Amino acid sequence: MRELSGIGVSPGRAAGPVLRLAPPPSLPSPSAVADAAAEHAAVRRAVAVVAADLTRRADAAADPTAAEVLRAQVLMATDEMLTSAADDAVDGGLPAPHALAAALAEHRAAFEAAGGYLAERISDLDDLRDRLIAACLGVPMPGVPSPGHPYILVARDLAPADTAGLDPAVVLGLVTAEGGPTSHTAILARTLGIPAVVRCADVLEVPDLSVVAVDGATGVVTAGLTDAEAADVNDAAAEARARRAQSHGPGRTADGHPVALLANIGSARDLIGDVEGVGLFRTELLYLDHTDPPGEREQIAAYTAVFEALPGRKVVVRTLDAGADKPLPFLRLADEPNPALGVRGLRVARRAPEVLDTQLAAIAAAAAATEADVWVMAPMVATAGEAAGFAAACRAHGLRTAGVMIEIPAAALRAPSILRDVDFLSLGTNDLSQYTFAADRMCGDLADLLDPWQPALIALIAACAAAGAEAGKPVGVCGESAADPGFALVLTGLGISSLSMAPRSIPAVREALAAHTLEDCRRIAKAALAADTPEAARAAAQSSSH
Ligand code: PEP
Ligand code: MG
Repeated sequence: MRELSGIGVSPGRAAGPVLRLAPPPSLPSPSAVADAAAEHAAVRRAVAVVAADLTRRADAAADPTAAEVLRAQVLMATDEMLTSAADDAVDGGLPAPHALAAALAEHRAAFEAAGGYLAERISDLDDLRDRLIAACLGVPMPGVPSPGHPYILVARDLAPADTAGLDPAVVLGLVTAEGGPTSHTAILARTLGIPAVVRCADVLEVPDLSVVAVDGATGVVTAGLTDAEAADVNDAAAEARARRAQSHGPGRTADGHPVALLANIGSARDLIGDVEGVGLFRTELLYLDHTDPPGEREQIAAYTAVFEALPGRKVVVRTLDAGADKPLPFLRLADEPNPALGVRGLRVARRAPEVLDTQLAAIAAAAAATEADVWVMAPMVATAGEAAGFAAACRAHGLRTAGVMIEIPAAALRAPSILRDVDFLSLGTNDLSQYTFAADRMCGDLADLLDPWQPALIALIAACAAAGAEAGKPVGVCGESAADPGFALVLTGLGISSLSMAPRSIPAVREALAAHTLEDCRRIAKAALAADTPEAARAAAQSSSH
């Protein structure tokens, strides 16, 4: 047996024979165009075939996120600008498949230059190019095999069109050579509950149909298993899933120390299962496509829908976190050379204070009309002055519990001073990693720096937790790191009082907590804190957890 290592992005274990994606079509050398009208028609036919295929997959996708991604690809495919750029290329002497490739290359360059969210969509565009070329050439669409038996899907990277239609009963696990923890592959695998490992370059050398085991928590892929060994892995995984499905109730360590397990949501629609409350309501997700500012009444309705679903429970509402990877068109923010370091999050209130004011008024009205225990927090706070200003604005609207997110190292370092004016802190470890390591959170190539087990990140979390303990005020974590069951033990040991994550991730974290006492967690945290590398921190935590 041989162990290959990557980054675990969707927990769980699975084993089976390896199969890979059908390869993308290769373009033959272009032949001279004899009949331009026929090539124009071929462009349109290819667009129609691909759009119909993607629409069918979107309709069949069980997961709404996957369906949305596919529909976005349909819009790209049917964009008039794409067809007319391909027509121009045909008129310039290229046959249909080459003309479409040239048109998409132009789009690709524009997306790359735009950076941020659009640059992240480049793999969607590349996938679209391969599909259009396959349709033109009349060869099979690139994509996921259907051999009639379960398997582990291996690929260099996966496009949304591939992951969206995946059936977890057939595709038992996913391993990619590229991609990162924030890639579509990772997000969709987590949503579908398929164990997944990314950035495992050596997996490309594993021959088709040889049997591997995937551990989506540790990132280890074991090659060279026998069928009997694979069956054992799958039996144990099925048992673990069944155990988890039965777990319910509030988060607690084995000795009863409470750690609230809360949900990250973007709207009332994301509330699935019985949750203790909401630890992060990303309000900006409601308005991503709005060109006019949402009015107070519209906002009251959206917030009320969430609050009404959780009477007596905590709901932490984050005020609009606009900018960088989450542009809000209605704010008409100026183009900035470096939007991740620009006017974003709470900073938008410097230019448009009325937007924050309307939002706080709407949250207060919805809170007054419902029974939820509403907390409010601001994103992207850098200084104690900003935190104090935000808390004062909340109180002026009658909102009693005001806090801030800690996503900027400057704020983490000044946590004791920030806590003098606010009621709680919530650590957004996605951005805190990005800003601590100067590493774009969307950049798969820097995934090692964005690893939450990095000693510098653990040290910042520890400092904030200690500040919370000193002030007697709660400090939670709502970044993706809270969903890693092993890291959740570290966070608990450091004194973090609530963990907020995608609802589907809660059972595995609940189970990990229930298997350890608070003293265990403290020992694990101490070991992780003393390590010099993420690998050493993981290993130290694992060996001190027994
Ligand atoms: C974070 O930065 O960790 C966070 C929870 O906020 P978002 O992912 O929405 O930026
Ligand atoms: Mg953030």
